[in-house]
Amino acid sequence: MSHAGWSCSRSVTRLFVFGTVLAIGSIVMSKEWVSGIIWPEPAVVDPGPVGGPPSDAIVLFDGKDLSQWQGGDKWLVQDGCATARAGEIHTKALFGDCQLHIEWATPEEVKGSGQGRGNSGVFFGSKYEVQVLDSFENKTYFDGQAGSLYKTKPPLVNACRKPGEWQSYDIIYSAPKFNEHGQLTKPGYFTVLHNGVLIQNHTELLGDTDYEQPPTYHAHGPSPIRLQFHGNPVRFRNIWLRELSEPQPQRPE
Ligand code: MG
Repeated sequence: MSHAGWSCSRSVTRLFVFGTVLAIGSIVMSKEWVSGIIWPEPAVVDPGPVGGPPSDAIVLFDGKDLSQWQGGDKWLVQDGCATARAGEIHTKALFGDCQLHIEWATPEEVKGSGQGRGNSGVFFGSKYEVQVLDSFENKTYFDGQAGSLYKTKPPLVNACRKPGEWQSYDIIYSAPKFNEHGQLTKPGYFTVLHNGVLIQNHTELLGDTDYEQPPTYHAHGPSPIRLQFHGNPVRFRNIWLRELSEPQPQRPE
């Protein structure tokens, strides 16, 4: 090795030793910050297969029957899916804050246009609709297209698949809170993923999502989940829900 090469190698070795000493020194000197809050241990949840249901989910429709739905006998259950007809259906159980997974498909044979094409909806609380619509190359008012929080906020993007193809919504619903006088103390919020794409990002709910009047809150408690029949044979499958609650930590005095 030449003199220059030997000298370079020694410099690199010195740098390495210096760096190592610095790193060890910083570890010895550092002190972990501790909040003092005692958090409960997060529950273990088996996420299940892709698309769920996770182990802590309430299965609302597994393809066999609509026994958990009031009015479910009106809809056609066939080939693992439920087809809307003859009126809306709603869960027999009541829910507040929750995560809902639902898969839907608008009719493969395209009929109608705008709001008349593959229209249904998933309702929470008093009357809060996450719109279901065939929005594949089908123009309508933006706050009424698929994934809109109806008449409140359009989706961030249009992630709609073609008519007849299965699509998914993953909806996180934070229910509005009311005091004992029925006054709103905290608005509701929706976060929605459409086919895995974020389309509502913690969107504030302004009240009932009516067609004919501006959004207005009406006090309510836990409520059924409702699926709309809007004259179109929209199909549904793989519906499950997880009830959500915030952990209750012990905080330092
Ligand atoms: Mg609708």
